Amino acid sequence: LTVLFDIQISDNWPGYSLDLFTYPQHYYGDLEYVLIPHGIIVDRTERLAKDIVQDIGDNDIVVLCVLKGGYKFCADLVEHIKNLSRNSERFISMKVDFVRLKSYHNVLIVEDIVGTGRTMKVLLNNIEKYKPKMIKVASLLVKRTSRPDGYRPDYYGFEIPDLFVVGYALDYNEHFRDLNHICVINDHGKTKYRV
Ligand code: 5GP
Repeated sequence: LTVLFDIQISDNWPGYSLDLFTYPQHYYGDLEYVLIPHGIIVDRTERLAKDIVQDIGDNDIVVLCVLKGGYKFCADLVEHIKNLSRNSERFISMKVDFVRLKSYHNVLIVEDIVGTGRTMKVLLNNIEKYKPKMIKVASLLVKRTSRPDGYRPDYYGFEIPDLFVVGYALDYNEHFRDLNHICVINDHGKTKYRV
């Protein structure tokens, strides 16, 4: 029996048929399958919130939301942290900001997805200049890329195959942010929304 300590969606995972869920009509015909249904994202986010409160409870933190793709995950994560704080001894007092850099004490960076990790490394370098007391990174998704030295956030929801995904605020040329589930787009969708 093998118990995994993170959620890895394997390369051969076929996903869920779109017919099993509801999604906006204007995306009918544009998607291949559902990779992660919305309910699972929300449930996993609730647990990440618990881990974060356990680790850094009793601190004042600045939640730094990386726009635009991170706003759904950030909003849900903050909501869960708030609920946990309200109902327990440990609490986090939070300020939320949107990647405007100034002098921070404790920073929790909230990202939608880490691919190669290049974007996050640049952001971390920038923020470290302000010498915060603590920086933690939470990303909903981490992509399994070919780079073994790939960056790993402190908290993440799911490790996914090296696929381009949309939904839950992740976009393709600004489309699909209004889709709840994390999905893989098909060729029709790629062509339709190509710029
Ligand atoms: P990295 O620098 O880690 O390779 O890429 C990170 C950034 O690229 C993310 O912040 C995100 O904006 C974008 N990105 C990477 N993979 C995906 C994906 O599968 N879907 C979407 N919508 N954006 C992605």
